Amino acid sequence: MDNLSEKPCPCGQTMGEVIGFKERVTDGAMVKYRVCWYCPECHAVEKAIGRETFVETIHDKVNSDC
Ligand SMILES: [Zn+2]
Repeated sequence: MDNLSEKPCPCGQTMGEVIGFKERVTDGAMVKYRVCWYCPECHAVEKAIGRETFVETIHDKVNSDC
């Protein structure tokens, strides 16, 4: 399984994920999503797109099993 919480940066350091919250359209709940990755060394930012923005939580896993 892919670990998307961090990515290698072209500068040789590791980019860390930046997490944000947004309101879910269906029920108005605030859900976490991955905004981008950020490198503290060279300040590079790589935007998360598509499924990369999805942050799996324990809460979500419980719901999907029902
Ligand atoms: Zn970097």
